[in-house]
Amino acid sequence: MQPFDRRIAALESELRALRAYPREQLAGIILEVGFSCDCCGRCCTREYNDHVFVLEEDVDRLRGIGPDLLRPAPNPELCDQHGRCYVSGYALATTPAGDCVLLDGNRRCRRYADRPVICRIYPYMLHRETGADGRFDWRQVAGLGEHGGYHTTIPCDVADRLAEETIGYEIAFLEQTLGFYRAAETLFAAEGLRHVQKRRDELLRAHARGEPLEVLVYHRGGFEPEGGAAMRG
Ligand code: SF4
Ligand code: SF4
Repeated sequence: MQPFDRRIAALESELRALRAYPREQLAGIILEVGFSCDCCGRCCTREYNDHVFVLEEDVDRLRGIGPDLLRPAPNPELCDQHGRCYVSGYALATTPAGDCVLLDGNRRCRRYADRPVICRIYPYMLHRETGADGRFDWRQVAGLGEHGGYHTTIPCDVADRLAEETIGYEIAFLEQTLGFYRAAETLFAAEGLRHVQKRRDELLRAHARGEPLEVLVYHRGGFEPEGGAAMRG
């Protein structure tokens, strides 16, 4: 069975919930938490983030800055019967140690003005997660209490802007993921492909041991090989 319908329905439901989330509520939480960044740089390393997923608008900007700043996001969602994997977007490339390639030796961002949207809003987020009681709840701050400072005074207009940017990022992320599944559904139907979960899992395990993996990356409505040449879909 293809995974598309159920996944698309779940993403659409999540998107509706996200759109209905009051911006003032998130701004209120931002004010209450009063987070301040101490510029430790840990969120730009593997210590905090396995990978930094970037939006399509970031991809276009980062490609203008230089080659080799991007790689396919890990854990491709789909794999066809021929062993080709499909992933919903790109992540920032990392050094062998797992640091973002744009992080300098003093733990500062080399392209701070051009950093992706996720780097601008971090640690704010708006994720719907299942609580201990099995009900949905929202998480608004990543690593709360584990980094930075708290209870600083944040101007209301700054909190409003952060809330707007955070919700905007989360909506764009879900829309991109939805676009990925819809494009994959169309491509798989047109080319007689089917998703094979077992094959995907085997290939990812082999890749973790160092074997190559063929990945097509979703970007701007179609799929491109790593590096972004010809599009399919
Ligand atoms: S782009 Fe800059 S801010 Fe973002 S993870 Fe890399 S070094 Fe950190
Ligand atoms: S957001 Fe947090 S982890 Fe990242 S540099 Fe600031 S304090 Fe450090």
